[in-house]
Amino acid sequence: MSSINKACEVCKGACCESMTLQLSEADNVDEKRWLVLHGKLYNDWVELPCPCSMLVDGKCSIYETRPDKCDKAQVGGFDCIFAISRRRPENVIELMNLIGIQIVPKPIMS
Ligand code: SF4
Ligand code: SF4
Repeated sequence: MSSINKACEVCKGACCESMTLQLSEADNVDEKRWLVLHGKLYNDWVELPCPCSMLVDGKCSIYETRPDKCDKAQVGGFDCIFAISRRRPENVIELMNLIGIQIVPKPIMS
């Protein structure tokens, strides 16, 4: 039985609340337009809000039998970091620390 990562416990499923697709990977201009009309655009990425119906109180209610796509998602991977930075801005430093990514503050220029 696998256990839920501590960061995911705190995060409560930011990556289960939306889907991120790369605009430049769209098949044609019409598909790009459709994506832009349905989501929020960040450079080449479109975030489509689509909360999973299996996310209950911040936990996956079918964790042991979740789809492979969910099982393969990596804590600290691109989708995770994107989801955290977009959907959990108030917890971003705590989450990055739990994941093991150090945020170095930008030096103040004099
Ligand atoms: S966004 Fe990252 S930390 Fe949050 S639940 Fe998903 S994998 Fe876990
Ligand atoms: S099935 Fe579970 S892990 Fe997958 S998106 Fe839904 S709540 Fe998240």
